[in-house]
Amino acid sequence: MTQYTHVHRHHNESMLSVEDALERILGFFNTLDVERKPILDALGQVLAEDAVSLYDIPPLDNSAMDGYAVQSASVAGASEGSPVSLEVVGYVAAGQLPREEVGPGTAVRIMTGAPIPNGADAVVPFEDTDEVERRGAGGDMSRIGVNIAAPPGAEIRPAGQDVRRGTLVLKRGSLLRPAEVGVLASLGYAEVSVVRRPVVAILATGDELLEPGEASEAGKIFNSNNYSVAAGTLRYGGVPRLLGIARDNLDSMNAKLEQALECDMLVTSAGVSKGDYDMVKDVLAQHGSIDFWSVRMRPAKPLAFGALTARDGRRVPHLGLPGNPVSALVAFEQFGRPAIRKMLGLGDVGKPTVEAVLDEPIENPDGRRVYARAVVTRHNGGYRARLTGDQGSNLLTSMALANGLAICPEDVPLMAAGEVVQTQMLDWPEEVF
Ligand code: AMP
Ligand code: MG
Repeated sequence: MTQYTHVHRHHNESMLSVEDALERILGFFNTLDVERKPILDALGQVLAEDAVSLYDIPPLDNSAMDGYAVQSASVAGASEGSPVSLEVVGYVAAGQLPREEVGPGTAVRIMTGAPIPNGADAVVPFEDTDEVERRGAGGDMSRIGVNIAAPPGAEIRPAGQDVRRGTLVLKRGSLLRPAEVGVLASLGYAEVSVVRRPVVAILATGDELLEPGEASEAGKIFNSNNYSVAAGTLRYGGVPRLLGIARDNLDSMNAKLEQALECDMLVTSAGVSKGDYDMVKDVLAQHGSIDFWSVRMRPAKPLAFGALTARDGRRVPHLGLPGNPVSALVAFEQFGRPAIRKMLGLGDVGKPTVEAVLDEPIENPDGRRVYARAVVTRHNGGYRARLTGDQGSNLLTSMALANGLAICPEDVPLMAAGEVVQTQMLDWPEEVF
């Protein structure tokens, strides 16, 4: 029954670099198919069509200010000391079309965004007229005094200034941020085609696990991995599907894996370390193929990766994270996040890094790439990084204290205080979530 033939224990002796592991993993993922949805629901997704404008934006020449539309020649000589008096022949608000034309010696009162009347080539703002004094004095509003000269084009926003009709405004592949959602709305789009979000099945394994909310029991611990991984999935744009806990036996695992076959990816935790993985290995191999790797990194050296095969032949990639909560989350950041980003159609899958000055040393006794939990703060126009204390991979609270992972390269046995360390930012300083 098992198709599990190509995986041997000696794989554990040869360590994979983080890059090689990532490359192999990403090879299993492609951009997902497309869905149509309301533009607001598409925030954070990738555009799957070119957005071309059917209109000029703004559609017509219009006023940048509340004021008076005039001919610049009429007010050429105007100044505070010698205002020019014009006859007010009409009024136009935003959303209306002007009824009156402007000629020499006349003006149309105009509001911001209203189309410029024929004949006018400039707008004089209210504050450069005597409108307030006139109104206060109960004066004659059929005329207006203009206190400044206005060159041709003054305070006029030309038609098509933002977007010309027929222009490709947002390319297929653009990430929809608030600005892009607004641009789509400005083009008149109510719905848009985007790459759909990946559905990520998330499964914990272990006889020792309880779900949060259950009564605590001696010797048991609460399942945190499902929740941290699901939260990470949400944050990076996936849709988590929590499959709960599989016990360390065949039937329990098998029952859970059925549900994973409907998803785009399965993320499990635990059961991947040496001597522990036989059950997991056999069950997963029954459903497809699985490989166990040692990745040259700390934490999260043991990692499993494979693919489940659904009855219809579709293959569902499976990322097997280590059980220790910090390892699970660090490995999810390095491998799960890029997979989600690739499925979402995002080209750049890397997490931003900054250069930070180390407050204290990072030790690297066995030649792995160390991801040290760090607190990064601004300092002297740059950044500094201090570690969160004990770096045990079981200490999940240390991950909660950190906003970055300071990276000591595999070939550097010790980074001293004062050295510059590349630091992968989990969050930006001063930014929440
Ligand atoms: P294992 O890989 O099964 O040996 O697990 C390694 C460590 O991670 C053990 O201490 C487990 O109790 C712990 N662990 C495994 N799964 C979880 C989980 N879902 N939540 C919290 N800790 C876990
Ligand atoms: Mg276990």
